[in-house]
Amino acid sequence: MADFVNRRDWMRIIGASGVAAGLGPGLTEGAEQAPVGESGGFQSRILNANEIQDARTCPTLVGGKVIQPQRELSVLRQTDVLVVGGGPAGVTAAIAARRTGADVTLVERYGHFGGLWTGGLVLLVLGHIVEGGRQVCQGIGEEMMKRLDKMEGAIVNRRPGTNPTVDAEAVKYLMIEMIEEAGVKVFLHCWGVDAIVDGNRVIGAVFESKSGRQAILAKTVVDATGDGDVFAAAGAQYERRSHNIGLVSRIGNLDRVDTAKAAQSPKPKRLGAVTPVPGVNWVNMTGPEDDGLNVEVLTRMELDHRKFIWKNTQKLRGTPGYEKTYLMETAPQLGVRITRVLTGLKTVLLSDLKAGNRMSDVVAVGGSTNGTHGEWHVPYGALVPVKLDGLLAAGRCISAEMRMADLVRLIPNCFVTGHAAGVAAAVAVKDGCPPRAVEVPKVQKILRDQGAYLG
Ligand SMILES: Cc1cc2nc3c(=O)[nH]c(=O)nc-3n(C[C@H](O)[C@H](O)[C@H](O)COP(=O)(O)OP(=O)(O)OC[C@H]3O[C@@H](n4cnc5c(N)ncnc54)[C@H](O)[C@@H]3O)c2cc1C
Repeated sequence: MADFVNRRDWMRIIGASGVAAGLGPGLTEGAEQAPVGESGGFQSRILNANEIQDARTCPTLVGGKVIQPQRELSVLRQTDVLVVGGGPAGVTAAIAARRTGADVTLVERYGHFGGLWTGGLVLLVLGHIVEGGRQVCQGIGEEMMKRLDKMEGAIVNRRPGTNPTVDAEAVKYLMIEMIEEAGVKVFLHCWGVDAIVDGNRVIGAVFESKSGRQAILAKTVVDATGDGDVFAAAGAQYERRSHNIGLVSRIGNLDRVDTAKAAQSPKPKRLGAVTPVPGVNWVNMTGPEDDGLNVEVLTRMELDHRKFIWKNTQKLRGTPGYEKTYLMETAPQLGVRITRVLTGLKTVLLSDLKAGNRMSDVVAVGGSTNGTHGEWHVPYGALVPVKLDGLLAAGRCISAEMRMADLVRLIPNCFVTGHAAGVAAAVAVKDGCPPRAVEVPKVQKILRDQGAYLG
């Protein structure tokens, strides 16, 4: 029997007793009110009255050890290119691969796109310009910036030679728009937990979600998780690094500061920098250096950073003139900068930046934070694992030496490596070859056709 009660039936059922119980028309529980004009009100039905999951595959204790029995996984999808991680690199990679003609699936652990750019509230876009203010990061990332420029309240300080700041909600919205326009198949709330490997070749990944543990099979996989979760699971070699872990927040009502009163005491610290929302600043945090892959560290950082930010804002509110400011939000996502970095066929080196080396296999060009140096090239091999096939890395986990990591991880530089990985993955599929055997000139031509700058 379909146990289905619509609002009209429900009102008939509760009838006078509902009214007698103090539930006025449209009020069904607590203080939650069906919005005026909502035709059906709340609706609920039993989808399966006697559901029992198969517990035979639950882990069990064998000889004092927790053992997971073998089990078959359902295949959620088969695709040409599977991109894991929907941050700046992953979204760009997915759009690029799709525009290159591949069937693309993008999987993201959270409910939105943008990674640290949006969920981490890292709103300042650094790293796209070089000496003289010339902008080197172009292509799909720059297309996003141009589109943000046309949206009301989405971006500020977007002038040649400057570093713009975006609104996270505008970016989330735009990324949905661009992903849908491109025709990428998306799965959100899906956490990549394992790689599917055939010999030396990655052929897909395993995901955990509320639907359970499922597999997606792919001809080429792009690891854009930022932490190299997929290449690590597949057995690729990488360097594990620590870095500062912070938590970004936003302060509101800064346009309501009583400036006359405020001028009488020293300017408070940690006021942050402007955003497209008037009176709202984003506040970056360096945080202590630690291992961003250690769950105990992540937990402690969340707890400590949240307490610190709350107390700091209360201190600010106690400062004459700043009484009306308030903590608007802390980022839902902890600010983990660097963890795993792929050991690639090639590596992005500081010596190449310093020497201004141009590379015949360049697939991306990065910039500086404030136009303090020239452009630097990302060789294709920096995206390709030394031994593992079927996989490319994109974003902050590509092969780069320690001294380059703080440039490689900047948002525009993640756009360009994502763009390159997406095109290369689609070419590998089209040509039926592993990523390491892709014809780089072919990738370069497509990248240029898609607006990328390659020096
Ligand atoms: C505190 C802080 C301040 C920063 N300041 C700046 C700045 O001012 N300017 C600047 O340009 N850059 C800055 N950065 C760097 C920049 O934000 C990041 O390096 C950049 O966002 C990295 O992009 P990405 O796509 O490689 O990775 P991420 O942005 O980390 O995106 C990775 C995505 O993959 C998803 N994911 C991860 N693991 C899995 C999994 N197993 N399964 C499925 N999905 C997964 C994540 O949810 C996320 O959406 C800062 C970073 C931090 C932490």
